[in-house]
Order: sequence, then structure tokens, then C-alpha cells
Amino acid sequence: MASTRIQSTDTATRLAERTLELVDIASQSGAERDIAAHVLGVLRDGGVPVRDAGDTCVIAGTERRGERPLVLLAGHLDTVPAQGNWPGRREREHVIGLGACDMKGGVAVLLELALAGAERASEDRTLDVGYVLFGREELPATQSALAPLLQREHGLRSADLAIVLEPTANVVQAGCLGNIDATWTFHGRAGHSARPWLAENAIDHAVAGIRALHARAPERETIGGLDYTQVVSVTTLHAGLASNVIPGECTANVNFRYSPSLDRAAAERALRGWCEPHGEIAVRSNSPGALPPHENPLTARLLAAAGAPAEPKQAWTPVAELAAAGIDAVNFGPGDPAFAHSVGERCALSALLRSHESIEAFLCA
Ligand SMILES: [Zn+2]
Repeated sequence: MASTRIQSTDTATRLAERTLELVDIASQSGAERDIAAHVLGVLRDGGVPVRDAGDTCVIAGTERRGERPLVLLAGHLDTVPAQGNWPGRREREHVIGLGACDMKGGVAVLLELALAGAERASEDRTLDVGYVLFGREELPATQSALAPLLQREHGLRSADLAIVLEPTANVVQAGCLGNIDATWTFHGRAGHSARPWLAENAIDHAVAGIRALHARAPERETIGGLDYTQVVSVTTLHAGLASNVIPGECTANVNFRYSPSLDRAAAERALRGWCEPHGEIAVRSNSPGALPPHENPLTARLLAAAGAPAEPKQAWTPVAELAAAGIDAVNFGPGDPAFAHSVGERCALSALLRSHESIEAFLCA
């Protein structure tokens, strides 16, 4: 398999070639074996101390813990399913194709930083750097490969900061929202549609419940100077057996993106309080969010290198799994979030270069 064959001396070109190489290795969630083997080979051939950490995970540079603070650069290897956008291609100033934005451009930056660090024996760097690559991030959080990795690799948990190179358009995005998916079932009584007064239409209960839930305004909360917006939405709705039957049951999916200040139990209590007067709630998944790092000097140093103020992460990301393992974590990567999971996924060469330069400046500050 190809390894460090990318020889371009110009950093932007090398980053673009690396991104395209990664895009062209199919790695839909659950099928990360080839790409994990590939990144292992690239790092090994480049002289980076790396190992297969099992279960789609590859870790590098974390074997010996020095005196200096340890920073982890982390990224997922998997993508969402293709939408006619694979394999990828290079077009002037962009790499285009499945995963280019989310987040093979970020993984390319991570790999090139690891290779550069190995070449220069990290002499200019004032931080120790570990590299963490993992799979199944684009699936429900309960299936992620990262949380179990953090459980079995104790060394990772001593890190002072983790930077996840998810798409943020090169802005530091801190913290993240929690995320609940629940099935909301509305009960009525089925009957003949010619005599609806003998039945009880479950859709009526659903309409009343959803209207009340959607009347809730988004709730903004400022944490560490960042505004997070808590929102709740019904995202699917199903009812009906036949055209002449009044439905006795109607089911909805409720998606609750909750403030990082709520723990899992408090979030679930809030959701039940709103929904249960109208129907039954069964929580299928509940992933807590993460508070932004509090007074971590490395975050300030990253912000200075990035040259832009921090933003809140208005979504769920693996920083929550890192935070749950006791590691301060932020998102910072080259992809533009507007292109994540889109048919036209792409990553700009200028963004790849900027990301690489900012992180290198951070590591050497
Ligand atoms: Zn992602």
C-alpha cells in the first residue's frame, strides 16, 4: 500500500495530495480497516513511533511521557456514506470528494505534522505531541471507537489538551452540546374512519404535543464567555395503518441538543417533563456535552496561534468523549462546516495550509 510517496516540497501541495490520497481510500463507518492500515504505514515509514491500538485505532508519539505538556491531535478516519462524490479529485484550490471536509483534510494536516515532527526530531517544539486516529465517529456515539480507546489507553488520559481536527474553518470551537434521541409515542384508539367519534386519533395527540414542544424558544446559555443554544425538535413522525383506519398510535423522534451545563440525567428529566404529558418517552441515546476548557493555558496559546477568538461548538463532537475521560479538548480543523456531509464536500488548500501553520506555531510557541 502507498505510504510516504508524497514528495512535494510545497506544503500546501503536499497537504492537498495527502487529503486526496485519504479521500480515495473508502472508509465509511464500520469499514475503516484499509485506511487505518494506510495511516499506520505512512507514519511508520516516516519514522514516527506508531502502533495499531486495535479496533480501528492508531496512536503515535504517546509512548514516552516527557517533562513537557502533552497535546493530542485527534481525528476520525471514517466518513458518512458516499453520495456520488467518491473517488475524489483536485480542482485548482480545492480537494473535492467524500470526507475531504469531514475530516480527511484534518487527518492530512495531522499526518503531515507528525511526519514533520519526526524529521526534525521535534527540536523546535516546546510541547510533546501524541496523535490519535479512530473510527466509527459518524455513527451514534455509543458505537464510537474513541471512548473505549480512552478507557484502555491510560497514557492518553494524562494529556493536557486535545485538539480534534473536525471542520471548524480554522476557528477554535470549544465545548459541545449534549444530544438525546428519544422515541415519543402518542396513544389513541384505532377505529373506522367513517365513524371517527368511536375512535381516538393518535395524530391529534401528536399535533398537540409537538406544537407545545416546538413553542419552546431556543434557550441561550453563556458559559466561559461562549453562547450555547439549547434546542429541541421533532425530526421524524409516523402514523397510519390504512387509508380507512383512524390511527391508534403515532410515533415521533425527538432530538434534544442540550446545554453543556446539564448532565445526562438532568437533560433527560427536562425532556420527559416537556413530552410525557402528551405521550410516552423512550430514550434511545443520550450523549452528554462538554464544558469549554476552564483556564487551560494551552487553550489561550492555541487561540493566539489561530489568530481568532473562540466560538462555542453548536453540536456534539468527540470532544465530549475526551472531556468525559478528563482531557480538556477543543475542535480546530481546516474543513468548512458548511460542506460537511454535503454532496459537494471539499477542503481548500489555503485552509489546509493555515491549519498546518497554526498548529505548528502553537506547538513551537
Ligand atoms: Zn467529523
